[in-house]
Amino acid sequence: MTMKVADTTLHRAFIGLGSNMGDRGAYLAQALRQLGEHPGICVESCSRVYETDPVGFVEQGAFLNMVARLATGLSPLALLDVLQETEARLGRKREIRWGPRTIDLDLLLYDKLQLETERLLLPHPRMGERAFVLVPLADVADISPEGPEAWLAHALEEVEGKEGISLWKNSIWPPGSGPSAN
Ligand code: ATP
Ligand code: CA
Ligand code: CA
Repeated sequence: MTMKVADTTLHRAFIGLGSNMGDRGAYLAQALRQLGEHPGICVESCSRVYETDPVGFVEQGAFLNMVARLATGLSPLALLDVLQETEARLGRKREIRWGPRTIDLDLLLYDKLQLETERLLLPHPRMGERAFVLVPLADVADISPEGPEAWLAHALEEVEGKEGISLWKNSIWPPGSGPSAN
């Protein structure tokens, strides 16, 4: 892989992508392409793509969800800015909380950082109860039951086997690639 960001400033981030409007797979692929074009972001690997029942606001179409692993030289807030700009470019509107959207880009994890600011909470506060985050995360993250990731391993155990999530496609990005899980 060609590294665009100097090694000394590299951080590891995981983002959750979701779409339930229009050509959902195309929105996911466009978001990944746009993020990868940013000079401070390298998309290292992508999970499989899952179709999931809506949670929270249930009167809406099924989602596609996936997780991408990034290497980045950006700070957490600068990365959030890029995620929100990408959402805006792809037509994301904020109308109903947890309602239909062309694309949702959540910052799940940034190194081992814990952060509590008005704009950004890390790790993402609701990821531990969401199969649509944890199942794809396990495709691209090393979630060991011991060590600092133990909470994720336990959370994954809790949601595994639950209904409402099924494999949709092995890979959508880069186009023409096979499964890109590590
Ligand atoms: P949820 O956060 O439950 O997944 P959502 O993705 O629909 O719901 P949004 O409307 O996309 O919520 O975001 C609401 C706000 O959450 C954003 O304005 C952003 O500042 C804030 N936020 C806090 N922590 C994070 C994070 N880790 N990733 C993305 N946004 C975050
Ligand atoms: Ca979200
Ligand atoms: Ca969001």
